[in-house]
Amino acid sequence: MLVDYRVRQREYLLSISRALTSELDLSDVLRIIVQASVDFISGRAGAIVLADPSDSVFRIAAIYGLQRDHFERFAPMLSGLPYKAGEEQEAIPELTRRMQRVAKAAEIGVTQVLRLPMLSGDALIGMIYVFQASNYRISSDASNLLQSFADQAAIAVKNARLYQEVIDEKQRLDAILEQSADGVMILDRQLRIDRFNPSLSRMTGSAREDVIGRYHRDVIRWHKLRTELTLETAIVDGWPLPGGAHLYVEGDLKRTDRENTSLGITYAPLLNSRGAMTNIIANVRDLTRYRQEEELQKTFISVVSHELKTPVSIIKGYAGTLRRKDAKWSPGLLDEYAAVIEEEADRLTGLIDNLLEASRLQSGAFRLELTDEVSLPRLVTDTAVRFESQTDIHEFRINFPDDFPLITGDERRLVQVLNNLINNAIKYSPDGGYVDITGHTHADYVTVSIQDQGIGIPEHEKHRIFDKFARLDNALSRKTEGTGLGLFLTKAIVEAHGGSIWFSSNDNSHGSGNPGTIFTFSIPRDKHFIKHR
Ligand code: ATP
Ligand code: MG
Repeated sequence: MLVDYRVRQREYLLSISRALTSELDLSDVLRIIVQASVDFISGRAGAIVLADPSDSVFRIAAIYGLQRDHFERFAPMLSGLPYKAGEEQEAIPELTRRMQRVAKAAEIGVTQVLRLPMLSGDALIGMIYVFQASNYRISSDASNLLQSFADQAAIAVKNARLYQEVIDEKQRLDAILEQSADGVMILDRQLRIDRFNPSLSRMTGSAREDVIGRYHRDVIRWHKLRTELTLETAIVDGWPLPGGAHLYVEGDLKRTDRENTSLGITYAPLLNSRGAMTNIIANVRDLTRYRQEEELQKTFISVVSHELKTPVSIIKGYAGTLRRKDAKWSPGLLDEYAAVIEEEADRLTGLIDNLLEASRLQSGAFRLELTDEVSLPRLVTDTAVRFESQTDIHEFRINFPDDFPLITGDERRLVQVLNNLINNAIKYSPDGGYVDITGHTHADYVTVSIQDQGIGIPEHEKHRIFDKFARLDNALSRKTEGTGLGLFLTKAIVEAHGGSIWFSSNDNSHGSGNPGTIFTFSIPRDKHFIKHR
């Protein structure tokens, strides 16, 4: 009998510890424990209730041998009887009385109840209830064993909660890492990449799956460094020093897929309790835009100062000459000088207008002033007449169909578009030739093309001619005036009208093929396409 009892005891404990160590979820483990508790003392039923950490109310976590709604009837019995240290050794008379009342009313055949506290340290985290149908008093041995079941259950609950906390914390960290607009990467002690977030993939052009496990130096390859040290050279120099100061590295990163990216990386060492480095956390900022702005500002200052200086010094030169007291000027010469001054003043005005327009575009204050019934053929003719007087070597040929419709548009801005395209056509065909301006009508839109017989645009420059301050590097760009704002503004104006602009060109720098460039822009016929910006 005693041997039998010991064997059973061992079997139960074994099955419980097996449940604890296998990766069952908590409710399965608790079910096994409550079942073992009931079976062990040949009880009738049992349940485990757990104190909800959020409100400390006890709720059912596992039931054995009883319907859930039956057990819920015992609710009055479960509350208002606080656990007292040491009570597990005896039956609690008040508890038994309450239970018997419920059992009788519900016609459930149980006569005795044991409750076993589940303690975590001093805190009561749950109870095991075991119901018996007999009046057989259980031995203190058995009750000790039952309490050890309850202790096991408490451990299971504690482990599960710790595990859940770790998972929650990890998920939170993952989410922060994933959502961060800054690039984040974590390196191990050997400087291999352990984590790499999506922002960093975007900045570096490297997919996460291609970099995890690789060495930092193989992924963060600097093209140009703006700080003295890289992570690798800093480590050779003894970084991190005790105290773990951050390391900042800035420069341009090599990229295979597109132009280099400017990055600033802050490396923070993660030290263990003994001061040894276990990981490095790197925070990465994309500085490309900042660098581009810086470049643009430099270009802006040099272009503007150069372009403003030229007309101003011409005006000053001519005005000074005219004021000389010692000379007499013929009316013809006077007129010629005055005309130069006027022309240069106009050029200055045009330049300032372009700059203002560009800054309006940038600040979002750019608005079209629309009028109905704009006649593009008339605007083209007027503009061409003005330019014709400035050149002897170009011949304008204007060709618009008779049924070319009136459109809705911003007349002053459309003149700016034509001015710039025709001006370019002349400026970039220094040997002269025809400038053909042709209109076409389509069902939804009209187009105007300006074709010259000039130097053309080389293939490798085609992508940037609409950029702000883009001037192509050719012999002419140094000889001709311009800020490189013309096409940038032209495109913005055409697009504000709901149209688009494109071009095709042959590079004539090798003297082969057909020289010349043709720019075409479209404007929708239906004014509803116009963006009111
Ligand atoms: P701005 O118009 O501000 O006075 P720009 O004429 O140099 O200066 P854009 O009109 O924006 O500037 O043109 C940009 C660049 O594109 C020019 O510098 C020139 O190199 C090239 N380009 C523009 N139009 C032509 C053309 N018709 N033929 C050849 N190259 C052209
Ligand atoms: Mg231009």
